[in-house]
Amino acid sequence: MNAIPPGSTIGILGSGQLGRMLAVAAAQLGYRCHIYAPESGPACDIAAAFTQGAYDDAAALAAFAQHCQVVTYEFENIEPAAIDAVAAHAPVAPGRASLETAAHRAREKQLAEECGGVPAPWRRVTSRAELNAALDAVGTPAILKTATEGYDGKGQARIASATDADAAWAAVAGCECVLEAMVAFTHEFSILLVRGADGTSITYPPPHNVHEGGILARSSVPAPDTVVAQAEAAAVLATRLAERLGHVGVLTCEFFATKDGPVFNEMAPRVHNSGHWTIEGAVTSQFENHVRAICGLPLGSTALTGAAVEMTNLIGADADAWPALLAEGDTHLHLYGKHEARPGRKMGHSTRVRR
Ligand code: AMP
Repeated sequence: MNAIPPGSTIGILGSGQLGRMLAVAAAQLGYRCHIYAPESGPACDIAAAFTQGAYDDAAALAAFAQHCQVVTYEFENIEPAAIDAVAAHAPVAPGRASLETAAHRAREKQLAEECGGVPAPWRRVTSRAELNAALDAVGTPAILKTATEGYDGKGQARIASATDADAAWAAVAGCECVLEAMVAFTHEFSILLVRGADGTSITYPPPHNVHEGGILARSSVPAPDTVVAQAEAAAVLATRLAERLGHVGVLTCEFFATKDGPVFNEMAPRVHNSGHWTIEGAVTSQFENHVRAICGLPLGSTALTGAAVEMTNLIGADADAWPALLAEGDTHLHLYGKHEARPGRKMGHSTRVRR
């Protein structure tokens, strides 16, 4: 692939905070960003252009793509047909295989197994009868998750014993699902991998991630020794997944650290909340490296800039503490410019780098 030079336009499908931080990194390298989304969002404040359109409007997608030298996406719940509509006019990175696999829990688990990874015991569930069979196979406690469109703990129902099965099936509204066993983990961590257009891939030091109520609360690096000891095998799996998918850009894989080694949870074909610490905590941020990868540029160092880094999400009313965070002097504050601080909504994050 020929490098896409600074001055060119990068198209981004999605207008959320990930698109906003991508657009900041792209601007620093001299690129313009053009956002395409059904509604305006945090990314639109930063981008040079915004097209408001539906993800199933092939004509609008094609017109947008004609203004772009490369197109990427900041979330994975986009129909593959949208990628096809764009790809007829501009290269799309990561490609369709990454999107289709990562957007579907059963497909990503299957591919992880094919690549030698270990997900929690799981079964595909498409009917109430299959849920019974899956419970027999997987046991309880278990979690029923919708195969598509779940995030931040949404689209999930916990099953403590078989008597919860009716309520769980009702909670997922009869969608295609996976049932997976509850994993007894000591820690959660992620592998943030970036793969360049030439097939070179590198990973960041693995963050230890703490979730509260199914939503990421904090990521810290370096992770505890138990995580670091399992991160190498996890990074090998992430690299194999990226190679199988022909992935270009950042690929995030989430894992549970257990006494039996790393258990694969899920992957995202994009920059990720557990990588926000890289903006100040790594030599090259995940956002800049994603831009470098999709534009065919050399990747930047993923080394830490300090001895330790901690990223804290500001969720809902947490963001009201912004004056106190700024008063700390050495805390980096990121606010996403969202106006309504609903409970559970990611309003910003803060990062502390210990030198
Ligand atoms: P997910 O949307 O799959 O990332 O799930 C959100 C969070 O729920 C995870 O980060 C875990 O904290 C928890 N969780 C999800 N699946 C499992 C599992 N199989 N066993 C234990 N905890 C889980």
